[in-house]
Amino acid sequence: EHQIEIRNLHAKVGDTEILKGINLVVPRGELHAIMGPNGNGKSTLAKVIVGDPDYEVTQGEVLVDGQNILEMEPDERARLGVFLAFQYPVEIPGVTIANFLRLAMQARKEEGEEVSFTEFYGKLTSALKTLEWDESIVERYLNEGFSGGEKKRNEILQMLMLEPNYIIMDETDSGLDVDALKIVAKGVNSLRGENLGGLIITHYQRLLNYIVPDKVHIVLDGKIVQTGGPELAQKLDSEGYDWVKELATA
Ligand code: ADP
Ligand code: MG
Ligand code: MG
Repeated sequence: EHQIEIRNLHAKVGDTEILKGINLVVPRGELHAIMGPNGNGKSTLAKVIVGDPDYEVTQGEVLVDGQNILEMEPDERARLGVFLAFQYPVEIPGVTIANFLRLAMQARKEEGEEVSFTEFYGKLTSALKTLEWDESIVERYLNEGFSGGEKKRNEILQMLMLEPNYIIMDETDSGLDVDALKIVAKGVNSLRGENLGGLIITHYQRLLNYIVPDKVHIVLDGKIVQTGGPELAQKLDSEGYDWVKELATA
């Protein structure tokens, strides 16, 4: 089965339980939005999927194509094609974007398989065109002196080069102006189709005007309390989250 399946996922930070039983199936080919008020566990969900050591999974599973990824090393996850858009926000001194992209592509290959220059350069020129970015950018050092918008654009560049099977994007829209938002969306939408699944995590509906999700799930207090179509995001935008909180306490 080609899907991300989250089963009864519970996780804590220190002594505090944050995820309290998340259940979710995202088939490859669909993008689902995760929305919710701040502080309710959206980023925690993303971090647990990455395997961030600060978060302890106390119950449940995350299956990607039937394999439990919670026990996998990062390189094994990478080979399954799970891409986390906030995975590499760091500055790496002395590593250019070109170097980095090449290494990241190589990491997805089976042992003994090389990324050819033709493959690399072909994908790079096409990705840069989609992102409306000049080729000279790839000679810059990774994230060094990058603006917020450039960092996001660079994340999407990585995504385009790696052609992931699944993406997890957490608050990719934060701090972006509309032009940058549109370019980010253009990049994601260029990968959409039956080969791409994933989660778009966002507090605001704005990004979802440009990346229209197949489903929307609302997370409140570490659980999914409501699921709907894109119209649910519209409703949150016009009515806020108060009605959701009332539902949850009713
Ligand atoms: P959201 O992304 O929905 O805004 P988070 O998942 O970031 O929410 O946070 C959920 C709750 O967990 C918040 O109360 C937050 O303070 C707490 N939390 C998250 N990460 C940590 C951490 N590393 N240490 C302590 N508390 C944390
Ligand atoms: Mg937050
Ligand atoms: Mg968050």
